[in-house]
Amino acid sequence: MFSYKSRSDRIIEPLTHLTCSNCNTENSRPFKEGDYVFKEVDEKCPKCGSVKMLITGIYIEMRQEKERQE
Ligand SMILES: [Zn+2]
Repeated sequence: MFSYKSRSDRIIEPLTHLTCSNCNTENSRPFKEGDYVFKEVDEKCPKCGSVKMLITGIYIEMRQEKERQE
């Protein structure tokens, strides 16, 4: 039998979406402190290898979660 404990300490991790300023490839990775929209970061583009990417959005990854446990 399965005994599944529901965790209440689950962390929701935001995702940062980046666009390469060279080839416009979109990429996403976990949010890092200091990220904000339209910030230029020295991240390597997976496609062309350029190290100039622009943060185009920060999204919160919604996981299957109940609204509130009361
Ligand atoms: Zn690129």
